[in-house]
Amino acid sequence: MTVDVEDYFHVAAFEKNIAKSDWDGLSLRVEKNTYRLLELFAQHQVKSTFFTLGWVAERCPNLIKAIVEQGHELASHGYSHQKATGMSVEEFREDVRKSKQILEDISGVQIKGYRAPSFSVNDSNTWIYQVLVDLGFEYSSSTYPIEHDLYGVPSWPRFKYQRPEGIIEIPVPTVRKNGVNTGIGGGGYFRLYPYWLSKNRIDNYLKSEQQPYSFYFHPWEIDPQQPKVAGASFKSKLRHYLNLSRMEGKVVRLLNDYQWDTMENVYLK
Ligand SMILES: [Zn+2]
Repeated sequence: MTVDVEDYFHVAAFEKNIAKSDWDGLSLRVEKNTYRLLELFAQHQVKSTFFTLGWVAERCPNLIKAIVEQGHELASHGYSHQKATGMSVEEFREDVRKSKQILEDISGVQIKGYRAPSFSVNDSNTWIYQVLVDLGFEYSSSTYPIEHDLYGVPSWPRFKYQRPEGIIEIPVPTVRKNGVNTGIGGGGYFRLYPYWLSKNRIDNYLKSEQQPYSFYFHPWEIDPQQPKVAGASFKSKLRHYLNLSRMEGKVVRLLNDYQWDTMENVYLK
């Protein structure tokens, strides 16, 4: 189980509508929403990996401590949620180094995992893996091998593999039919589809692929009261706001229906 700890105004779909310099003027919702997830995970005895933004950790240190104290895995989602494809090597190194430092200083634990914002790794920036190795990361879960306007390289591996740089990459799960990969690891489709359909797809994956399944979502997905972002495109709004009120119930069903653990425990041990 994985959670990308960021607020609604960090998402790539709104980057043209909300400037980074405006973030501090917006009221934080991520803290309350993530505490709610901690509560749900505790109720269902589920351990999760929290890929957390350094920017959020700086503002919510107690949340970071609670994540670790409750036995979850803390990992990095970078500092400022910039796509890795939009940064130079040095910018990327500094963004990720800073996030790791902040998370380790607050939590006192070593950070092993990294997830790129918007799964922004493709053939143009495979250098990120060397940077991650240099910074001491052991794994990345930064690829979603599907056709998508924002992310994914469909030809890349679909399952956990060792990179030549010396780090493990754990792609988000996909199903493959007639040579086409479709994402089943979370995102808008999970909110769009009825739960039984998502469950069917997950069950088929587990049966046919014999691989562990991982799911990702965000604290803002269980928050139907979040402020609406003015001026965003129809497509961005549709993707972001669709079925938010049903998400918590669907997540609870996932927690009930499967056995979950952290990325580290499932993929590294
Ligand atoms: Zn993100």
